[in-house]
Amino acid sequence: MHADAAGAIATTGRDLNNRGLLASYEGNISVRLDAERILATPTGVHKGRMQPEEMVVVDTTGSVIGSGAASSEIKLHLAIYEERADVGAIVHAHPPTATGYAVAGKELPRAALAETVALFGCVPVAPYGAPSTTALADSVREPVRTFDALLLANHGAVTVGGDLEQAAERMAQLEHFAQIALVAHVLGGAKSFSSGQVDEISRLREASGERPVPAACYPAASESGNITLTREELVGLIADAVRRIR
Ligand SMILES: [Zn+2]
Repeated sequence: MHADAAGAIATTGRDLNNRGLLASYEGNISVRLDAERILATPTGVHKGRMQPEEMVVVDTTGSVIGSGAASSEIKLHLAIYEERADVGAIVHAHPPTATGYAVAGKELPRAALAETVALFGCVPVAPYGAPSTTALADSVREPVRTFDALLLANHGAVTVGGDLEQAAERMAQLEHFAQIALVAHVLGGAKSFSSGQVDEISRLREASGERPVPAACYPAASESGNITLTREELVGLIADAVRRIR
């Protein structure tokens, strides 16, 4: 009945493993079969060598329907399905560069790469929760309402999609972006867009039926060069400058 979805998960696991987005037993994948059932990778299997018949069906509370033991991270998946009715598939992985940012506690640069702003808006870091716990599942509830890709602090990344291909490709795109961000960092740091330039990308997103770029993804005033000062601060700066000229 869900043979197609099971086959797609097995293929995606092999693909993620081959592309270096997860290593061996790491990560997990799920697909929403219908309003009551989710098909997920089993716990403790090599994601590059899964067989379709190994996949596990669970209900929305995580109870197994049939046989097998679902992924240890099933709570994370269930929380996301609960928050987002539009999500049909979820990929959790540990792509090395993006996870490097999550482990270093560094945000990926906001409003810096056109493709990323268009695709994701930006990629926030969800607070740390120990793997497989309700704390981890709860840490993504709020940000996943707005974002399709998240970093998990000191852990990895999660991407969602309308279908499995979209969720998996978003994981690859996230890692690609993280690699670009790292190169930009080495070369002196990413140069941020202005708010107007983000507005322009946001309009393009909306024209293609996507949600506008979330407010949180706009450059901070100090990044864009649009520094806001109070009148007193401005007067103080001018007074300092005049003093220096004298
Ligand atoms: Zn993980």
